[in-house]
Amino acid sequence: MKAAVLKDKLEIAICNVEKPVIEPKQVLVKVELCGICGSDVHAFTDLTFPPGTILGHEFSGTISEIGAEVTGWGIGQRVAVRPCGVCGQCFWCTNGQISLCPTHMETTLGLKTPGAFAEFIAVQEYQLYTLPDNITFEQAAQLEPLTVCVHAVRLADIKLGDTVLIYGAGPLGLLIYQLVRMSGAHEIYIIEKSNLRKKLATNLGASNVYDPEEMDSGVFTQQLPKNGVDIVFECAGVSETIQESFKVVRKGGKIILLGISPHPVSINQFEWVFKGIEVKASIGYFVGEFEVAIDLLRSGLINVDSLVSNIIRLDDIVDEGFMQLLSPDNAAKVLVKP
Ligand SMILES: [Zn+2]
Ligand SMILES: [Zn+2]
Repeated sequence: MKAAVLKDKLEIAICNVEKPVIEPKQVLVKVELCGICGSDVHAFTDLTFPPGTILGHEFSGTISEIGAEVTGWGIGQRVAVRPCGVCGQCFWCTNGQISLCPTHMETTLGLKTPGAFAEFIAVQEYQLYTLPDNITFEQAAQLEPLTVCVHAVRLADIKLGDTVLIYGAGPLGLLIYQLVRMSGAHEIYIIEKSNLRKKLATNLGASNVYDPEEMDSGVFTQQLPKNGVDIVFECAGVSETIQESFKVVRKGGKIILLGISPHPVSINQFEWVFKGIEVKASIGYFVGEFEVAIDLLRSGLINVDSLVSNIIRLDDIVDEGFMQLLSPDNAAKVLVKP
């Protein structure tokens, strides 16, 4: 089968690889669409995964083969897949905190286990979800990042009338915006430098969208509540915005860290403690949250369609996918069709 294989820094090749042979508790899924995640782009630029990896964890598909011990699933069934793998036995799995499982990197699809930038992928039965008829394959390929955002917004525990500031209007920031709005936030500020992403935020109804340059000039800080905002979502993973989060949040406010900086970031610990800021790290999602994301999509409460900037062929994954995502003004969510 055809697959996109990470070869080196800035090098992904379309190769012919063995079609996966499924284990008794697995099914083979024919990939319909797979989104390119920011973490895939990191792997492409910084080789955060070893050469030989098939990336891709945000996907939808149809079942094409069923393992001997799998029951209740049929060939041709439309499915969404929760790529997060579990050991099922550790302290964290037992507490439903599946993204903290020590086997996470090994068992999650598209990290060290072959991913979905391929025609077929082997999936554990426990990772399968029936796709409701009114959720398209395009929408279902965004269930995974939506679940990441559901987790972050649940951690934030937003109160009716809270003010919220979001750094970054990429696919995650735009989903956070919609979830925060439906959770009862009163005023929502978005900081983004890419014109394309600013426009996407505005199209979704955001009225307080600012360029980081306006922040430097002080235009933007004058718009913020005098005491600072109640909650900050840091979705950019850039040291400047991580540090800035501690300045714009009010005393006793919360910072939710979703963005991942590949470099160490220094924090003013005095400011952190003196302001009594609560900092929460949001990584992946816990048990039951994928189901929440499916329900939100099924009921039409979240717009994921407008986040998709391109749907491309697997053959074009480098030039029309990864290379475009190096510049945030060229693309938002790119979906790949093997
Ligand atoms: Zn992802
Ligand atoms: Zn575990």
